[in-house]
Amino acid sequence: MTHSTVNDLSNFPKTIAFIGAGNMASAIFGGLLSNGLAPEQIIATTKSHESCERTRENFGIRATTSNHNACEAADIVVLCVKPQTLPEVAKDIAPHLSPDALVISVAAGIDIDSMTRWMGESTPIVRCMPNTPSQIQQGACGLFANDQCSQQHKDDAESILSSVGIAVWLDNEDDIHAVTAVSASGPAYIFLVLEAMIEAGVKQGLSQELSKSLAIQTVLGASALAISSEYDPAELRKRVTSPGGTTEQAINVFESKNLRAIFSDAMDACANRSKELA
Ligand code: NAD
Repeated sequence: MTHSTVNDLSNFPKTIAFIGAGNMASAIFGGLLSNGLAPEQIIATTKSHESCERTRENFGIRATTSNHNACEAADIVVLCVKPQTLPEVAKDIAPHLSPDALVISVAAGIDIDSMTRWMGESTPIVRCMPNTPSQIQQGACGLFANDQCSQQHKDDAESILSSVGIAVWLDNEDDIHAVTAVSASGPAYIFLVLEAMIEAGVKQGLSQELSKSLAIQTVLGASALAISSEYDPAELRKRVTSPGGTTEQAINVFESKNLRAIFSDAMDACANRSKELA
């Protein structure tokens, strides 16, 4: 497994078409622009002329209502429509891909076999599973490439996805379900933890506003410390848990109520649902 983070794209030599210009697409092309990609190297497609105009105004990129024209002008096509729309879109654009064009799909639950059926055996395809913090370039994304992808295709996919956070290569396509359980659905678990911490802080007598500020900054600070530290999270936890101290009391309650088993069960349920939807 390899991964990379945000990089400089000022010399990236390719044109990228985004089919669909909604939340995930705009997060990714926003990241590409922040990393130095020239706006004229990005073409987004939308369903109406009004949304084309909005996309041009908001991002300065090219926009069109023609998926065919966008694909014909692009070296890389990023499919950012909803999963239920993807079969129709994939079949429709397949004859309009440039020779050797890389197709990247962010659609949840659509596997490479299906994509290959719709787009042709020889199409290089990277399937990926991003998450919502990609909107602020703090995403975590799992990537899987089919055998038709060259090293250059993989490097290109990694350059694009690492413009919005970390991009991690998977050896097996089935690992996408585990990625869904850890990072794609993970932000919601942390929001739930935040809700619980804020409520408990209010119960202790803090105002809602104060409790919220302290809890959110604590999660941010703990994550930043975990990223920058030479120690893993278990060691960092031990280092703030002095024997007989206050933190130990809280940790004892979490452990006695089996927080680890709760996370394990929750993430099993998430991964199982991801397999069912596939
Ligand atoms: P969204 O609804 O914001 O965007 C989809 C866009 O596609 C819309 O703007 C829609 O107008 C456009 N569209 C629909 N049909 C089209 C067509 N035929 N041609 C061109 N454009 C068309 O959805 P989203 O949240 O950005 O999700 C997009 C994909 O990203 C989904 O497949 C989803 O599974 C995947 N994804 C999203 C997240 C997330 O956190 N939002 C995380 C992981 C994966």
